[in-house]
Amino acid sequence: MGEDYPDGRGRVRVEAAGIPIEGVSIAGHESFYKLPTFRTLLEFGRAPEDTVGYANVCVSHGHLDHAAGLAHHASRRRLAGLPGARVFVPKEAVDDVRAWIEASERLEAIHYGVELVPAVPGDRIALRNDLELTVLPGRHRVPTVGYLFSEVKHKLLDELAGRPGEEIAELRRHGAAVTRREEVPLFAYTGDCGQEIFDAAPQILKARVLLIECSFVRPEDVPRAREYAHVHLEDILARADRFENEALVLTHFSQRYRAEEIREALRRIPEPLATRVIPFLPR
Ligand SMILES: [Zn+2]
Ligand SMILES: [Zn+2]
Repeated sequence: MGEDYPDGRGRVRVEAAGIPIEGVSIAGHESFYKLPTFRTLLEFGRAPEDTVGYANVCVSHGHLDHAAGLAHHASRRRLAGLPGARVFVPKEAVDDVRAWIEASERLEAIHYGVELVPAVPGDRIALRNDLELTVLPGRHRVPTVGYLFSEVKHKLLDELAGRPGEEIAELRRHGAAVTRREEVPLFAYTGDCGQEIFDAAPQILKARVLLIECSFVRPEDVPRAREYAHVHLEDILARADRFENEALVLTHFSQRYRAEEIREALRRIPEPLATRVIPFLPR
């Protein structure tokens, strides 16, 4: 990869249980993930050119390895004649992010039109008819939230199964409920987090894909993981039988590790989890 990234680290493209994820994630350096399936960008990182087209951005917390590109993204959308993006940020960070945007707008004497949305755990936002975003609790050193993307299905009520379509249409015309709503959790993202996340947001264990940080893998780095509220590989190993995910994408590895060292460390993950683990690393 470019010399801007540590050796063997940089741009990553993976497909996790049918969901493509492209981006960069190196702890303390840069994190962003393009999710074309959901037309959503997770984090800004430093907002490289191919993130500018994303009009929906979910930011987990204010650490600049995740948020640095925010004003640059807004500025370049404006230059490209695109409408301001909708940007979700933890509620506690909204005032500071707004001040940052306003200062940038004054410096450039333009208005970006960014729509800042305060994200509070439990909030639900309809992204499409069939796609819902739920804000999850986070656990990090600064206010942090996670995000869950769920497919929304409208299933015919069991008692109506096999009835003629005409009869169902008639019931619907009279205002009767003929379907029930079903949510299929497709993709969960935790943002940066300590191991407390597993108790705070246990629903992450049931999403089809879980994108979770695993900043540290060396045994001697456990105290560092605790101090900075990051997940250590030991935390994944200790819960290896609890992950129900079809794909577990581990990301945000420390910039002090070479890709080969990370892959080697991940060999400690036991089956049947091991075959479902995808390290967010260049191939
Ligand atoms: Zn980070
Ligand atoms: Zn952080």
